[in-house]
Amino acid sequence: MSSHATAHVPLMIVQNLSKHFPIRRGLLKRTVGYVRAVDDVSFTILSGETLALVGESGCGKTTTGRCIIRLIEPTDGQITYRDDDGNIIPLRQLKGQQLKDFRRQAQIIFQDPYSSLDPRMSVANIVGEPLAIHQTESGSALSDRVVQLLKSVGLQGDHLRRYPHSFSGGQRQRIGIARSLALKPRLIVCDEPVSALDVSIQAQVINLLEDLQAEHGLAYLFISHDLGVVYQISDRVAVMYVGRIVELAKTEDVFKHPLHPYTEALLSALPVPDPRKHSSRIVLEGEVANPANPPAGCPFHPRCRYAKDICKHEAPPLRSVEPEHFVSCHFAEELHLRGR
Ligand code: SF4
Repeated sequence: MSSHATAHVPLMIVQNLSKHFPIRRGLLKRTVGYVRAVDDVSFTILSGETLALVGESGCGKTTTGRCIIRLIEPTDGQITYRDDDGNIIPLRQLKGQQLKDFRRQAQIIFQDPYSSLDPRMSVANIVGEPLAIHQTESGSALSDRVVQLLKSVGLQGDHLRRYPHSFSGGQRQRIGIARSLALKPRLIVCDEPVSALDVSIQAQVINLLEDLQAEHGLAYLFISHDLGVVYQISDRVAVMYVGRIVELAKTEDVFKHPLHPYTEALLSALPVPDPRKHSSRIVLEGEVANPANPPAGCPFHPRCRYAKDICKHEAPPLRSVEPEHFVSCHFAEELHLRGR
């Protein structure tokens, strides 16, 4: 968790972001509907902070992460980015060299360290490739920089000529992190970066990410379904449900004082560290809503144990209920929900 994050300035502002994927059917592949993977999502990432995006699988967190670095094109919304010189850049309009420049500043670490590294490339080529593509270094300067990057993630220079298959999962993720650092980014989207790793290795990689953040002033958008990991690393948390943010606040506030029933249910599933205490898990009835056909009103209402009549008809907007604590629930002020 980085300190003093709230004193930091906005690095990226995301407003009303949507990504709808067409559903095509029949021989002519006609569009018969849309999966609203991300639906009117707004948030800010501050420089040097870790903002976590959490929620069950399929809630839109990965799609959001990919949209904000233009790995996939959003359907709607605005994204602005503050570059090194303090210029505010509208991201969706970027093309050609400008887009290439932005891509140096915003990187991604993928979930699966087994499939995200090309098995035919040596570590030297994997880590050095971004430098070669962007022509920032060449020759011996490039080799020196690759060795330096490997050392910064706890690997040795003599790993350079080896191939991904000869490394453990944790080491491969370190190679992926070294690659993402090559171009000195300011923002890294970490897409479930530790969920494929053993628990003991997870802690090492989280510590590494925290050390690198402190050293380089990096901002992370940390995508995860694991609230234990999120509690450890993030400054603020955004909870997503069926393509929308339902709660957004500082980590401590979300965990100790949740204001949305969905957050309360997610937190109740966290293991209790004290064996003398009983956990009373809130079992959510029913399935996650279908983003191709979300329920009317509050999308969470079919699973919410506090739902009332209005919830079936009226969608609650995301609103500020306490300072820096946003929630979309009609009854946020009245419910007294359980935190951790
Ligand atoms: Fe539950 Fe209603 Fe709040 Fe939605 S608006 S979370 S259904 S109480």
